[in-house]
Amino acid sequence: MSYDVIIIGSGPGGYVCAIKAAQLGMKVAVVEKRATFGGTCLNIGCIPSKALLHASEMFAHANHGMESLGVEIGKPKLNLEKMMAHKDATVKSNVDGVAFLFKKNKIDSFIGHGKVLGEGKISVTDNDGKETELEARNIVIATGSDVAGIPGVEVDIDEKVIVSSTGAIALNKVPEHIVVVGGGVIGLEMGSVWGRLGAKVTVVEYLDKILGGMDGEVAKQFQRILAKQGMEFKVGAKVTGVEKSDKGAKVSFEPVKGGDTETINADIVLIATGRKPFTEGLGLEDAGVVLDERGRVRTDHHYQTNVPGVYAIGDVIAGPMLAHKAEDEGVALAEIMAGQAGHVNYDVIPGVVYTQPEVASVGKTEEELKADGVKYKSGKFPFSANGRARAMEASDGFVKVLADAETDRVLGVHIIGFGAGEMIHEAAVLMEFGGSSEDLGRTCHAHPTMSEAVKEAALATFFKPIHL
Ligand code: FAD
Repeated sequence: MSYDVIIIGSGPGGYVCAIKAAQLGMKVAVVEKRATFGGTCLNIGCIPSKALLHASEMFAHANHGMESLGVEIGKPKLNLEKMMAHKDATVKSNVDGVAFLFKKNKIDSFIGHGKVLGEGKISVTDNDGKETELEARNIVIATGSDVAGIPGVEVDIDEKVIVSSTGAIALNKVPEHIVVVGGGVIGLEMGSVWGRLGAKVTVVEYLDKILGGMDGEVAKQFQRILAKQGMEFKVGAKVTGVEKSDKGAKVSFEPVKGGDTETINADIVLIATGRKPFTEGLGLEDAGVVLDERGRVRTDHHYQTNVPGVYAIGDVIAGPMLAHKAEDEGVALAEIMAGQAGHVNYDVIPGVVYTQPEVASVGKTEEELKADGVKYKSGKFPFSANGRARAMEASDGFVKVLADAETDRVLGVHIIGFGAGEMIHEAAVLMEFGGSSEDLGRTCHAHPTMSEAVKEAALATFFKPIHL
């Protein structure tokens, strides 16, 4: 069989690229080794974790967030099996949705392991070992990423006691104590889920703060809020061992600055130290496709590898490992293959932590601007001064706007607060159009909304806020 484009991997990068390419008139096939489409994101990542985050937040809210509003419902009871069934049903409807879209757009799909044989040729080996050879003018590697593990530490992830995020979204019982190795987005989201359902949560983080790449001020406040919710933090701590024990597992760590080793026992240990590009068994070496120093497929600005007609997008190439980044690259690449001017603006890729409160950011952090020597001004507005936030008892957090000191162009926006993950998009649109803090501050915002805090932070950046 011969195609205009064959995509290996049906995650947000691969499936979006396939749909866009089909919309642009190409004959498209997708190869996926999982039984269902949607990749990490839909099967074991974004979607199941958000289903559990929402459900566990409802439980936590019913437990202690309603009485002060005059809603007395007694003590809620957890039905974990049902909560997991909700998660599984959410995953199913999403992966089925991708299968429907493939059919609708006349995209052929092959379930099996894809291998690049060289320019224009791939093989697919199905579960019975049967091999099919396919040809295409363009091949797209969209094979995503896998759990990274802890550098220098041998860890046996059995997905039962020592788990990755894949095991952490499928525990059949609330652990008494879960130790999360890694204070990044995935660790804090999954820690929040199990903490809300009753587990004691201890986060062990190598850096001296959580959420490494986020704005420092936001990360600090976030850690304070999570600690108030009961999460324990061991920061500046280097994990030296994770082993199974009689009652579960134990984690040993020592201060990064030097000092005595400490050991914590837990019934579950979650390894959430990041993800690595997945290129195993793809035949890239034989096909001559070059990887970079971190094992990512090396591409140029048009997602082209060093082998003509072989492209790569998503988690398997450089850049933030985020579903929407992979999706946008999928669209841009389909356009490029169709002879159009596909493009992704890497300066405006929002990042969201779906905890309660949420954390959202787009553009540069204050630390990055300082390191780059950019002269900037900053405006902040707390949700404690926002009427809607008070009405909802959601006054934790603030909005921070960073703008160029001379031109007033907005360079970064950072929000910690209820609904931050939705509010961040007005900043993203503004930045995409090169807008200024004055533009944002002079845009009429409906009252009363949480978003008025974004407007006020912008007003604080170019002159003064009204309600502070
Ligand atoms: P993937 O989604 O990893 O898809 C790659 C696909 O390729 C897989 O289905 C794999 O089976 C297939 N494949 C690999 N090799 C082969 C082969 N040789 N042959 C055939 N098929 C192959 N991102 C967000 O933006 N927001 C979130 O809220 C979020 N939450 C997350 C929560 C968790 C717990 C995890 C683990 C990740 C989360 N992410 C989130 C990250 C997000 O899932 C990834 O950035 C995204 O899935 C990357 O998309 P991709 O298409 O590059 O690869």
